[in-house]
Amino acid sequence: MRENAGSQATAPQRAVREKVSGKKSVGKPGLLRKTGKGMPDADVLVIGGGAAGMMAACSAAEAGARVMLLEKNEKAGKKIYITGKGRCNFTNACDPEDFLSHVPCHASFLYSSVYGFDPAAVIAWFEEHGCRTKVERGNRAFPQSDHASDITKALERAMRESGVQIRLHSEAARILFPGQQDETEREDVSLTDDSEHCGEKAADRADVQQVDRRKVTGVCLSDGTVLSARAVVIATGGLSYPTTGSTGDGYRLAEKAGHTVEPCSPSLVPLCCAEEDLSEMQGLSLKNVTLRIFNGKRKAWDGFGEMMFTHFGVTGPLVLTASADLADCLRKGQLKAEIDLKPALPELKLDERILRAFEQNPNKEIRNVAPEVYPQKMVPVLLRRCRIDPQKVVNSITKAERARLVYETKHFSFTITHPGSFREAVVTHGGVRVREVDPGTMESRKTAGLFFAGEVLDVDAHTGGYNLQIAWSTGRAAGLGAAAYAKGQSKEAE
Ligand SMILES: Cc1cc2nc3c(=O)[nH]c(=O)nc-3n(C[C@H](O)[C@H](O)[C@H](O)COP(=O)(O)OP(=O)(O)OC[C@H]3O[C@@H](n4cnc5c(N)ncnc54)[C@H](O)[C@@H]3O)c2cc1C
Repeated sequence: MRENAGSQATAPQRAVREKVSGKKSVGKPGLLRKTGKGMPDADVLVIGGGAAGMMAACSAAEAGARVMLLEKNEKAGKKIYITGKGRCNFTNACDPEDFLSHVPCHASFLYSSVYGFDPAAVIAWFEEHGCRTKVERGNRAFPQSDHASDITKALERAMRESGVQIRLHSEAARILFPGQQDETEREDVSLTDDSEHCGEKAADRADVQQVDRRKVTGVCLSDGTVLSARAVVIATGGLSYPTTGSTGDGYRLAEKAGHTVEPCSPSLVPLCCAEEDLSEMQGLSLKNVTLRIFNGKRKAWDGFGEMMFTHFGVTGPLVLTASADLADCLRKGQLKAEIDLKPALPELKLDERILRAFEQNPNKEIRNVAPEVYPQKMVPVLLRRCRIDPQKVVNSITKAERARLVYETKHFSFTITHPGSFREAVVTHGGVRVREVDPGTMESRKTAGLFFAGEVLDVDAHTGGYNLQIAWSTGRAAGLGAAAYAKGQSKEAE
């Protein structure tokens, strides 16, 4: 194993470390830097070179640990390149309280890590590591260059400078416990079936829950290589966009280490709908509309903004936010939804608006007058739903027909059958149960020396830079936690 190159943290690194951790670093880093006979391959092994894993790795290294990052792809940070449409909306420049209001469930779990490394500290961190940043509408922060690659470069630079050893093409297959140091003791771990990672295997779980705070001792790779470590961070991401490497491996590893994995479902995802006429409006974007979603008779969600029709249903900012807030409901069954196309106009005013358009064009066919009030692509669908002949001349439209048009405008309804697939979901809802993880250090409450960071945990947020902020904050906490743990272990061993 090569000697860690990062024992000499630079002054700015130490300053950032102090700034983000709130602690003064004592003397030179490198307390854990001794290598030799009986020493593990690394103090901290980080599994997964995504946003959370890279942040965990440099945080642990900056805190003085010998760190090795394992990434199964040919390069680290594959998903970062596609974030924010290639521009990477890497955080939201809001205060932590506001941030937490964008986390639909388990926000309180993030309290400590987000306050420990908040959006302002994240922006400062990237600036310190050579990435100029800017803040746009809605407090969305981007690299000034509009290139996501600048975020990855900053992380790579930080890892290089702090001496993280990066091992690509290295897929972690198994966490090792005392007495399991060689390949002959491997359990049968398949890494191909996504569906079973999602926490429903009660029998398996009962089995693993008997594990009583075992200690991790390392990781076994899928090629059989055994790497020993004092602490291991699982930062393998979720199940969304599996082509980037996020194939749910961490759930299997977590279960084997005694953790419960909450059922996973796609979140921040387009929604599939039953009505075939929606596809006629494919590509149509609606601005300033209200979307309401009902679970049975109960209104479960509403929001105002922008949405779009697709060939299978609906998408757009309003829909993605709804998919995150209603992730659990969506998994259980169909939901009814309706769009108020003219939320600013009460029914009476809307009727007056329609009448005005009719009066100005009394002898025209309704299909040619309706586009004055509605988007062209919507007209045939609306008229069909209102049972109005599109060729009917406007001055012969009955009061009842007009009333149906007003009603349909305020209650354009459809049925949401299910969320889109993981292939098109921005994040995964569900994951490692947060009650089983220490929110301050991200250490497992089931297995000593095991830490979690990022999307593998059962936390996800709205769009706007919040999900990457979760990766940075939990990554930072896990890296510092793992380094501190490894330091304690190393002292014990002396
Ligand atoms: C299209 C898209 C756009 C997005 N845009 C934004 C945005 O603009 N802003 C925002 O805040 N969020 C955005 N997100 C969400 C954000 O990218 C994720 O929440 C975040 O990347 C999660 O980071 P992570 O490190 O936890 O997981 P990942 O980024 O999924 O990284 C996990 C890494 O672990 C590796 N890995 C997995 N298993 C193993 C194994 N067994 N051994 C070794 N390595 C392994 C994977 O190859 C991968 O590199 C977007 C997501 C998508 C899909």
